[in-house]
Amino acid sequence: MNIDGHIHICDLKAKPKPEKALGDLATAGFGGAIIISLAPPTFFIKSGKDASTGERLENVMEWCSGTENLFPFYWIDPLEEKAMRQIEKAIDGGILGFKIICDRFHPGDKKAMKVYRAIAETGRPILFHSGILWDGKSSSAYNRPAEFEALLEVQNLRFSLAHISWPWCDELIALYGKFSNAKKIRDDVTCEMFVDTTPGTPEIYRRDALTKLFSAGYDVRNNVFFGSDCTIEDYNTKWASEWISRDTEILKTIGLPDGDVSKILGGNILNFIS
Ligand SMILES: [Zn+2]
Repeated sequence: MNIDGHIHICDLKAKPKPEKALGDLATAGFGGAIIISLAPPTFFIKSGKDASTGERLENVMEWCSGTENLFPFYWIDPLEEKAMRQIEKAIDGGILGFKIICDRFHPGDKKAMKVYRAIAETGRPILFHSGILWDGKSSSAYNRPAEFEALLEVQNLRFSLAHISWPWCDELIALYGKFSNAKKIRDDVTCEMFVDTTPGTPEIYRRDALTKLFSAGYDVRNNVFFGSDCTIEDYNTKWASEWISRDTEILKTIGLPDGDVSKILGGNILNFIS
């Protein structure tokens, strides 16, 4: 089963329709998806501004109700005063993972690190944005892959970096190598890094980025997954299916066996969530 690992909710007023979501996903060739809640009020996107934690939670849970194949993730701002309380609420409410965008703090920020540790203790993963951030502000310094080395010190965390960190794909691949090596030379490094290949990479960079990711010599086959970055209210089936067929062709040309391709398009997400 193909799974879309990166879908946003952008409209609090849109009535959640999980059946329609599953139908749209099926049209695009997916059997399930990670659905990310509305943005926290501090984020520049207006959508979540007027929504409380409870409303954002309830909304994403409704979008994922009645099916096992829509996985609800809660977008948390680790600098918000009640971030720790939000983690508890989210877990109690059935959230399966968290989304974080470092838009005004470094990934290694002390306060944020405490939040990652609290999430890791719940056994739930974190989807991080990485790569250039289209927020109209000076925020790139917070999203360079190497900045995420800080996560070496978070025990048992599963986390992903989105967009192959475009345009810093080389840096992302090197970071993956660093995490693998750190685990070999340090017994206390227990976090696991995943790569979320959600476009961000314009088409002209795609083949190059994926070829390097799978040919650099690091064993990434079990730690890469696909996402579309579409919105759930208005899922762009044509766009998502074009990306998945383009990626499939590239992965096969690189020489990945069918079993690996299907893990990258779906199976690895289940390990990320579980
Ligand atoms: Zn996104």
